[in-house]
Amino acid sequence: MTQKKKIAILGSTGSIGTQALDIARANPDKIIIEVLTSNNNTDLLIQQAKEFNPSHVVIANEEKYQTVKDALSEFDIKVFAGSRSIADVMEITSAEIVLTAMVGYSGLLPTIKAIQNKKRIALANKETLVVAGELITSLCEEHKVDLIPVDSEHSAIFQCLVGEDLNTIDKVILTASGGPFRGKTKNELSAVTKADALKHPNWNMGNKITIDSATLMNKGFEVIEAKWLFGLKPQQIEVVVHPQSIIHSMVEFNDGSIKAQMGLPDMKLPIHYAFFFPERISTQLKRMNFSEIRSLTFEQADKNTFRNLTLAYEAMTKGGNMACILNAANEVAVESFLHDKIKFLQIAELNEKCMSKVSFIPKPNLEDLVNTDKETRIIAGTFISKI
Ligand code: MN
Repeated sequence: MTQKKKIAILGSTGSIGTQALDIARANPDKIIIEVLTSNNNTDLLIQQAKEFNPSHVVIANEEKYQTVKDALSEFDIKVFAGSRSIADVMEITSAEIVLTAMVGYSGLLPTIKAIQNKKRIALANKETLVVAGELITSLCEEHKVDLIPVDSEHSAIFQCLVGEDLNTIDKVILTASGGPFRGKTKNELSAVTKADALKHPNWNMGNKITIDSATLMNKGFEVIEAKWLFGLKPQQIEVVVHPQSIIHSMVEFNDGSIKAQMGLPDMKLPIHYAFFFPERISTQLKRMNFSEIRSLTFEQADKNTFRNLTLAYEAMTKGGNMACILNAANEVAVESFLHDKIKFLQIAELNEKCMSKVSFIPKPNLEDLVNTDKETRIIAGTFISKI
């Protein structure tokens, strides 16, 4: 019997956070929830806190502090407010594992604090590596911290690499479902709506990542994420469209052998794996039946139509703060698209404009990245106000 894992869930009311709590609920003898945090969703956060009785709860929206505090007054739970508190709690919690499941750039500072406090990172916030991959991976080395990917593709690659020498990797092949607009032309995409973009064929996820999947920005970010997680060169990372999402990704080794990790598309599996690695613990998840699936197909990604994928390769090759610029521009663009301020194809256009406009810094430190993020959001906002 293994010791109980003490876990902090940053972003507990989102899609990954609630699935992580399903795992905790199914494994009460193996998991203790120490920290829960949410941006805005007080009702669900309060309900989760009452069920899991963590030591610390953070509501990022400071205006909602009193609501959460009052609701939990009968419990022995410390309540904090403000996004800064999420990072601060990393210094006082006894959690050993931190699941970073918040959305976008907001994951950066808490992840840094968690690494400095020697917590294992179950990384569900790919933007952190997109923005600051070099900084995060060197901090992990310095503090001897494991960075275990929760992204299904990277979990697949990670699982394929267990027992292997990283120097024997020829390339990794990231699979992409292609999203709801696979096969569409630019012309057809010019008129798609928010509702169309939010209908993902295989995965049930939050709004931000669902739009990123529709534009292939998500796959582009995953390419950058793979570079940092596995120490790869840009030309070693390939994307192939695989609409069934059964093969979660593959690794090709120097002898020509290819390993693939497969399963039904369900994020609970990579979350579960990250919590218990290096052990495998049994789950009640639905199993795959090959005779029902019958065929697995593959096609090339259309980097021309889905320009964001090309932009991600460009940002990765350029290095410095370029991926940070791309991420900030994209967060503003997606938010604007979700508020009907810009059209679908304008997301990539805005990203590209920001990449050429914001000052490039070849070797950014954390302060540079924070400033790049701010500057990009301002410039993106100016572009949008002219649309
Ligand atoms: Mn993914």
